[in-house]
Amino acid sequence: MMQVFMPLNFLGFVYREMKGAMTNIENMFAILDISPKVVDQENAAALQVRGGEIHFDNVHFGYGDSREIIRGASFTVPSRQKVAIVGSSGAGKSTLFKLLFRFYDASEGEIRIDGQSIRTVSQDSLRSQIGVVPQDTVLFNTSIFENVRYGRIDATDEEVREAIRLAYLSDFIASLPKGEATMVGERGLKLSGGEKQRVSIARALLKQPPIMVFDEATSSLDSHSEKIILKAIQDISHQQTTLVIAHRLSTIMDADRIIVLDKGRVAEQGSHAELLALGGLYAHLWDVQQHESGATNPKD
Ligand code: ATP
Repeated sequence: MMQVFMPLNFLGFVYREMKGAMTNIENMFAILDISPKVVDQENAAALQVRGGEIHFDNVHFGYGDSREIIRGASFTVPSRQKVAIVGSSGAGKSTLFKLLFRFYDASEGEIRIDGQSIRTVSQDSLRSQIGVVPQDTVLFNTSIFENVRYGRIDATDEEVREAIRLAYLSDFIASLPKGEATMVGERGLKLSGGEKQRVSIARALLKQPPIMVFDEATSSLDSHSEKIILKAIQDISHQQTTLVIAHRLSTIMDADRIIVLDKGRVAEQGSHAELLALGGLYAHLWDVQQHESGATNPKD
């Protein structure tokens, strides 16, 4: 097995569970040899994704203690649109993602993708259709080029180069001592958070799943990296159904729809402008973040 570079601040929704982080989930299972907790139904069908519409229908869930973490969440991510999930820490954002990947089953309600309940389809087929850009990315001890190819190992060199270009990594790679042959990972060059996230975007672009999930980094990237990453996400989200867990509201103002989660419930949903006009929780979170970024913005 290839040696995996595992950063200490091992973050992200899947990673707390899985003790690993990869761009695509089915590979993560294969590499880390971790079995999911839920089992497929007998003769589970393969998920057939057409437009990639995701629907959470009155979903309830708790982790086993008496606390209900998701309390009747209902919302739709329309095909090829970009939807952001926001809310205070502990509101249940990552938990919604874990349910979408079926690391757990909802205790009540249903999640459907293009009309198919995710309970009824095989987990392999579900996870193979979802690309993940995690907060932090595992880099292998190989060249940066091969690290990108990991998104789809049978991709041609030309396809890898195209993904690198679309993820705005070309200039960075050109500046490296050995260009695309530069070794990275624990025994090679260390990449910054923003560079690593772009590697994972490039991997996801190579995989081209119909559904993309972004877990926005909590640690603030410098504003240049952030703009580049946002641009790459924006490019992708025109073609694919895109779900983003956002910590900074400034990064998802352009989302087609924003779901505001509060203690496991969908408190509000709408566009940025609609939610501001509503003057509720989102408007409050926005005011707080505007104030914070005005007061301290060390990286700008
Ligand atoms: P943050 O923005 O801080 O990442 P979040 O909105 O993503 O928060 P979740 O990570 O979904 O919130 O957590 C929601 C609640 O579920 C929290 O109270 C958390 O402690 C609890 N929780 C999360 N994972 C587990 C787990 N594996 N076992 C038990 N409780 C958990």
